[in-house]
Amino acid sequence: MKVLVIGGGAREHALCRALSLDPDVTALHCAPGNAGIAEVAELHAVDALDGAAVADLAASLGAGLVVVGPEAPLVAGVADAVRERGIPAFGPSAEAARLEGSKAFAKDVMAAAGVPTARAYVCTNPAEVDEALDAFGPPYVVKDDGLAAGKGVVVTEDVEAARTHALACGRVVIEEFLDGPEVSLFAITDGETVVPLQPAQDFKRAHDGDEGPNTGGMGAYSPLPWADPALVDEVVATVCQPTVDELRRRGTPFSGLLYAGLAITSRGVRVIEFNARFGDPETQVVLARLKTPLAAVLLAAATGRLEAEPPLRWSDGAAVTVVLASHNYPGTPRTGDPITGLDEVAEKDGPKAYVLHAGTKRDGASGEVVSAGGRVLSVTATGSDLAKARDRAYRAVGRIGLEGSHHRSDIAAKAAAEADA
Ligand code: AMP
Repeated sequence: MKVLVIGGGAREHALCRALSLDPDVTALHCAPGNAGIAEVAELHAVDALDGAAVADLAASLGAGLVVVGPEAPLVAGVADAVRERGIPAFGPSAEAARLEGSKAFAKDVMAAAGVPTARAYVCTNPAEVDEALDAFGPPYVVKDDGLAAGKGVVVTEDVEAARTHALACGRVVIEEFLDGPEVSLFAITDGETVVPLQPAQDFKRAHDGDEGPNTGGMGAYSPLPWADPALVDEVVATVCQPTVDELRRRGTPFSGLLYAGLAITSRGVRVIEFNARFGDPETQVVLARLKTPLAAVLLAAATGRLEAEPPLRWSDGAAVTVVLASHNYPGTPRTGDPITGLDEVAEKDGPKAYVLHAGTKRDGASGEVVSAGGRVLSVTATGSDLAKARDRAYRAVGRIGLEGSHHRSDIAAKAAAEADA
């Protein structure tokens, strides 16, 4: 099978890595990719948001499967354009991707499907904003209705800050604060059958101790030793399956990856948000633990044959990923800095630790790998338990040089210590 992956982040590098290890995959292509993906796939300079261009590329390559990584191309209808060309695409239609593209739409689907989530108001003017803030009280949770790369959400004790963010967004969702640990659960679906992956936890804040601004994600780990073993089955039964059934009932079936961002509150599991694609950086740790070859599963989801697939197989071990971010990320990042130590990690820590690239490119003049975005690298490691995977990941991080970069030093620290106790 020839596979084309759309996107160019560490999530796509993780997908390409898994696909490159799959004996069924005879050729691997990626658009636009990055300097790390270039080592496992052939890159194509095609605009990921241009459905017709992606479909043309897939057809010219003879691709038997197109995997759409990021949300923006899904919301722009890239998976639809590929399917219209008769090529299987892993990823929902633009209609179904509204589950991520509009928080208000997601709330409506959850209400109809009986899925537990935070109580919320959709507000479009200052009077409604004030009324909603007043109704819930602090801490205030204010979410931009549209796509904001995980950065449209403000959680604050300060009513003025909440109000300012709400008025800057236009259409906002203001909702009840959910306390308790967060879990990301991915499920692969063909619109009918739901196959859960292993749960992971990510770290959204920029700095140690969950301080600082929200980011796209600074690290992740899996499994979650502290979570109830029955959690996955419960979430499939109360969240994933009802949501998939509701979207099918509406005539807009959701196929691809359903990502449930969950809060484990004292009153039970609640959905914080849905995403319509693999999460970044959770994908890096989830795929590090998946033993089943990936291509056949994604193709089965894309072609409505998931029910016939054998159960997924997982490693009993753990995986940890630590994100290295550019100077000033999540603000406007500094780019163009050389990255050193990549070969050393491959030599000394591979294959149990490896570097997945996000914002990187090869400098035209020097041929060096340089930073080209906010999140630059996802340093990923596996081990027989979280503590070992964590040590290995941080040892590899220590070998990498990127001037001005920052990373969190507490990824999986608490879970590893608890699991050890
Ligand atoms: P979202 O983009 O909806 O995932 O929100 C980003 C982050 O904001 C989440 O991962 C949570 O940490 C936080 N958050 C979102 N909604 C809530 C909520 N209702 N209560 C508490 N924290 C929230």
